[in-house]
Amino acid sequence: MTQTTTLIDRIVSELLEQGRDAARRLASDEAPALVPVGVSNRHIHLSRPDMDALFGPGAMLTRMKAMKQPGQYAAAETVILRGPRGQIGKVRVLGPLRKETQIEISRADGYALGVQPPLRMSGQLDGSPGLDIVGPQGTVHKPYGVIIAMRHIHMSPEDAAKWGLLNGDEVDVIVDGPRGGVMEHVAIRAAEASALEMHIDIEEANAFGLGNDDLVRIETH
Ligand SMILES: [Zn+2]
Repeated sequence: MTQTTTLIDRIVSELLEQGRDAARRLASDEAPALVPVGVSNRHIHLSRPDMDALFGPGAMLTRMKAMKQPGQYAAAETVILRGPRGQIGKVRVLGPLRKETQIEISRADGYALGVQPPLRMSGQLDGSPGLDIVGPQGTVHKPYGVIIAMRHIHMSPEDAAKWGLLNGDEVDVIVDGPRGGVMEHVAIRAAEASALEMHIDIEEANAFGLGNDDLVRIETH
């Protein structure tokens, strides 16, 4: 029985894979999967308790600039990050508030602060290092929560279907230009109310000669 189930599972998954390959071939025959780039500098997402501790009880974020992803914005508020080796000031808070505080920095920031954060998707904070966050009204010690964001592409489920992709897939991304190349292991984040955008950090942008709204191409076959 178990063997039969395993065989059926295998056949089904092979058929599904063939279907997706066909969808990808179809997609690559049509319009190339071009995606605009959004470059993230170091930033922090705050929880309500940490917002209270840093900016005062009940403090609200001040909406400064809308991000491309609906509902997300850069706040006027900034904090200082303080690690065992050094500190970095004017670190932008991104809104809205989240369930858990998350600090996203570059590898070079990690050297300056004296922490070695892992490469992670947003929200995957287990085993990450912490540091101190300094705000105008107080300081918070975080035992964990510092990551280097793994590059990813936001898209709607419709775009994903069009290109034969599923949420959680990894793709190769082709970058043109004098510092061009292939970015491997780019995670697909397909969700409702998402704008098509590839999120990379400053170091990745600099290494590939990319800036905001430059177009890159998903390898679809
Ligand atoms: Zn993102």
